[in-house]
Amino acid sequence: MSRLIVVSNRVSAPVDPAAGSAGGLAMALSAALRKYDGLWFGWSGETTEQFTGELKYEDRAGVTVALVDLEAQDVEEYYNGYANKTLWPLFHHRVDLTAYERSYGEGYERVNRRFAEVLAPLIQPDDIIWIHDYHLIPMARDLRRLGVKNRIGFFLHTPWPVRQLLVTLPHHRRLVESLFAYDLIGFQTQEWLDLFRDYVISEARGELAGYGGLEAFDRRVRVGVFPIGIDVQGFIDARNSPQGARTYDRMAASSAFRSMMVGVDRLDYSKGLEERMLGYEQFLHDNAEMRGDVFLVQVTPISRDDVDTYQDIRARLDALAGRINGEYADMDWQPIRYLNRSYRRDQLAGIYRAARVCLVTPLRDGMNLVAKEFVAAQNPEDPGVLILSRFAGAAEQMCEALLVNPFSREELSDAIKKALTMPLAERVRKWQALMQVVRDTDVSIWRDTYVDALKGVEIIGDGDAPFHGHADAA
Ligand code: UDP
Repeated sequence: MSRLIVVSNRVSAPVDPAAGSAGGLAMALSAALRKYDGLWFGWSGETTEQFTGELKYEDRAGVTVALVDLEAQDVEEYYNGYANKTLWPLFHHRVDLTAYERSYGEGYERVNRRFAEVLAPLIQPDDIIWIHDYHLIPMARDLRRLGVKNRIGFFLHTPWPVRQLLVTLPHHRRLVESLFAYDLIGFQTQEWLDLFRDYVISEARGELAGYGGLEAFDRRVRVGVFPIGIDVQGFIDARNSPQGARTYDRMAASSAFRSMMVGVDRLDYSKGLEERMLGYEQFLHDNAEMRGDVFLVQVTPISRDDVDTYQDIRARLDALAGRINGEYADMDWQPIRYLNRSYRRDQLAGIYRAARVCLVTPLRDGMNLVAKEFVAAQNPEDPGVLILSRFAGAAEQMCEALLVNPFSREELSDAIKKALTMPLAERVRKWQALMQVVRDTDVSIWRDTYVDALKGVEIIGDGDAPFHGHADAA
């Protein structure tokens, strides 16, 4: 049996899977690596004076992990620079925040080349290689230059941007051309795939090839939609665990018969946090009679704090939460509990279950797993309501949520009112439909469908239709 090699910027294989803090993706990929006797390769998170390419091997619960250190300049230009200041904002349609620095692009190319040079000697003829996310787009091209002929797949966890914005990136063509060194490119949604195809056809004079293929740059690549999901049973177990139950009890007691709304997002400008707070403020303004009966728990761990745009949004959110609380709070009630810390998965499950409403309102998001976790954590007899941005990848599947345009504070305000007053029968009907979607896109289904597609053992569709990684196509 061929081995599976997973490559990602950071390696999240858990040391102790039983501890329950690892995410669904880490658990699913670890399980696949155990099955295929594979290897997970990536940056150690450490810096070194001089890049040597020396690998540090670890055994993490039966998964072999191979880590490499980078130079401080690499981290600055490749990771903080091109990945987080160029591609992340551009792929989330924030050209106003995108840094177009030549040194960042050079660092990105250098680190991808270095990763390829370190990984290539480890690859055996039958191995299949699965590379993840926007940090590593050109890596397959660099592996091919080193003579690697194995099957190599890529999965993009973020959105793909519209062509008119992508062309603002210097050397955009070179970046897209490098994707044609893969055998399979996976996207989260049909929308991101359509945007990729639009670029390839309009900008690179590419053509549709049969069986979900695309031809351009004298190469053919297979493309498909593989919506990622959560470890559904793992999440339900986390909710039912003693820690999950205790957190639920604490939240229920602290609610004091008020309706709790929850938001859980890394502190990132793509998550629409300011717009969400403004929409909530509008709701408090419009519905004086409901003030005091509702509160928002906003869990927002700090992320990428060494990037200045993240420091800016953090300061703006601090001010906004303070202003709303200052304006509306009463001696025994505060409208927003704004928490800049992270919680374990079992604690989050308890928080979700205690919530009447979940607000997932990104301005643009590859998928958004919080939406799926909230649904999985609900009480089937008395479920809460999901308010979901139409600009989250998850909205393509979770159409029974209350879909909103997060740029409109009036629309958000209306949706909050509708969610808080929704009759039980409607909540149950919506939840059942959403839970079916969550189960159908379980992370292990995502993983197996992708790996099978890369191995070429899937059932191939008709004509020019792209391959759909949904369970029903398997
Ligand atoms: N998360 C967590 N603890 C926290 C906040 C978030 O474990 O305090 C997890 C959350 O449960 C979810 C993930 O972080 O699984 C966020 O994934 P999502 O797709 O929503 O957004 P991303 O951060 O990947 O953009």
